[in-house]
Amino acid sequence: MATMESLIGLVNRIQRACTVLGDHGGGDSGSSLPTLWEALPSVAVVGGQSSGKSSVLESVVGRDFLPRGSGIVTRRPLVLQLHKITEGQPEYGEFLHCPRKKFPDFASIRKEISDETERMTGKSSKQISNVPIHLSIYSPNVVDLTLIDLPGMTKVAVDGQPDSIVQDIDNMVRSYVEKPNCIILAISPANQDIATSDAIKLAREVDPSGERTFGVLTKLDLMDQGTNALDVVEGRSYRLQHPWVGIVNRSQADINKNVDMIAARRKERDYFASSPEYGHLANKMGSEYLAKLLSNHLEVVIRQRIPSILSLVNKTIDELEAELDRLGRPIGGDSGSQLYTILDMCRAFERVFKEHLDGGRPGGDRIYGVFDNQLPAALKKLPFDRHLSLQNVRKVISEADGYQPHLIAPEQGYRRLIDSSLIYFKGPAEASVDAVHMVLKELVRKSISETEALKRFPSLQSDIAAAANESLEIFRDDGRKTIIRLVDMESSYLTVEFFRKLPMEPEKGTSNAPANLDRYSEGHFRRIGSNVSSYVAMICDTLRNSIPKAVVYCQVRESRRSLLNRFYARIGSKEAKQLSAMLDEDPSLMEKRGGIAKRLELYKSARDEIDSVSWK
Ligand code: GDP
Ligand code: MG
Repeated sequence: MATMESLIGLVNRIQRACTVLGDHGGGDSGSSLPTLWEALPSVAVVGGQSSGKSSVLESVVGRDFLPRGSGIVTRRPLVLQLHKITEGQPEYGEFLHCPRKKFPDFASIRKEISDETERMTGKSSKQISNVPIHLSIYSPNVVDLTLIDLPGMTKVAVDGQPDSIVQDIDNMVRSYVEKPNCIILAISPANQDIATSDAIKLAREVDPSGERTFGVLTKLDLMDQGTNALDVVEGRSYRLQHPWVGIVNRSQADINKNVDMIAARRKERDYFASSPEYGHLANKMGSEYLAKLLSNHLEVVIRQRIPSILSLVNKTIDELEAELDRLGRPIGGDSGSQLYTILDMCRAFERVFKEHLDGGRPGGDRIYGVFDNQLPAALKKLPFDRHLSLQNVRKVISEADGYQPHLIAPEQGYRRLIDSSLIYFKGPAEASVDAVHMVLKELVRKSISETEALKRFPSLQSDIAAAANESLEIFRDDGRKTIIRLVDMESSYLTVEFFRKLPMEPEKGTSNAPANLDRYSEGHFRRIGSNVSSYVAMICDTLRNSIPKAVVYCQVRESRRSLLNRFYARIGSKEAKQLSAMLDEDPSLMEKRGGIAKRLELYKSARDEIDSVSWK
């Protein structure tokens, strides 16, 4: 028995913890699994208005603490958790909406319930709200139980109430009793025909087999003289799986006279003991019996459900662990683990970046595109036709030797024409450097956003991006210098063989012509133009091959090898405080992680506790 009791107490405690965490259903957890709260049984008190719901609740608790009156007094669901504490300890109540405040007496609890109801629904006693009030009562005189008091069902909106109120209340009550783990305490007043009972009507709809419905008949004392409710309490009028329980609560007059609960219970006991109709059922009637009946049933239900509750808890734990992995685990506060985390992120980023370059992820191919399309196309477009036009060749050659006509080959003229042509190569070469730079920059951007582990660290993201881009700039400068050097090298020393192989002037067929004349003829310049042009074409071939090599060497290879080297050197000398600033996270994410961690803790301790009692 002790084990059983602690089992309900345990479930109660877990439910309490769920409530504090906001883990009581509603589906905002993003999980398809029901919450632990939903998996645990609870008892909802339902019935028509003034059928005696709040009174039954109080009798079960053994204390009066609920606001009472005519009209809809219960205007928000009240989730009442009873926690049995050891004898001799002071009893108190505690509300979820004002944690850490203990309400030592039941008058103050009643007042807080009314105040809190009004806070949500306004002073007018016409409005209702779906938002439950959570109250825990810790007392040596209660059984472990979670009960939910709901607004009474009505048939018509009375003056001042919105027309929707009948439907609103119906929906609200249904949302509780529909849940398969909800035990329905269906309250019907004995002074009304059971056939008209709202509670039984609803219970029949949501629990047709009657296995989770407890029929409670109140106001036995108010029945007309000469009538009794034996047909109902003996299960002949409406059969349920569980026995009906008849109750005599305090009348309004008793309440007005401040008849206390102890006296009320005694009066109820006496009523049944001395009743000519119900005497034979006296030990199965009354609110104390109802409390025990519920408590026993709850024990049975919980025991049955333990395997499925445990499996839910385990599944939820797996889900939460996975979610935590996705969000990233919290990082230790010491500079060692911070540095470790930062380096870890950097390496993850570099891995992604390399995949982009080397293949596996897209983007690296665009570098090849620069060399294969862009560079050749740009080289092809260079205006050598114009530059080596007859007119320009004549001009350059003629100017090269001043007033002295050249004697054999126009050496200076050739050099000038070649030098001035080679300069053109700088444009496409630099464009290749820039194009590859842009590709690399884009790959850095992509890699940053694709590095899963980095997602939670916006500061670190931008730090790594800045460092990588800074390196890329340096590589670009180096690339530029190198390709300019390649072009300059071509003009600093010409390929002698090329000229040696050229046919000597004047050519055979024209040997009779006077040399001077020939030297300044159109054919002469044309020949020079075409010689220079083939030389330039040869250099163009060379550069088409060597520019990509230079660019890859200076920019691509270097970014594979040392994109973050400067960054590494820099963080090595950082203080713990600066490191932790780099690891700043999105506050909403931190909050989310905190929430998940807390739920995880709750579910884990629930698992351990359920494990430990269920094997006893
Ligand atoms: P609720 O609206 O269903 O919560 O009903 P209440 O518990 O507030 O009860 C409505 C009225 O009926 C109150 O005045 C109670 O005193 C009275 N009442 C409830 N149960 C009994 C009962 O068993 N006997 C008598 N005489 N009055 C009762
Ligand atoms: Mg009520």
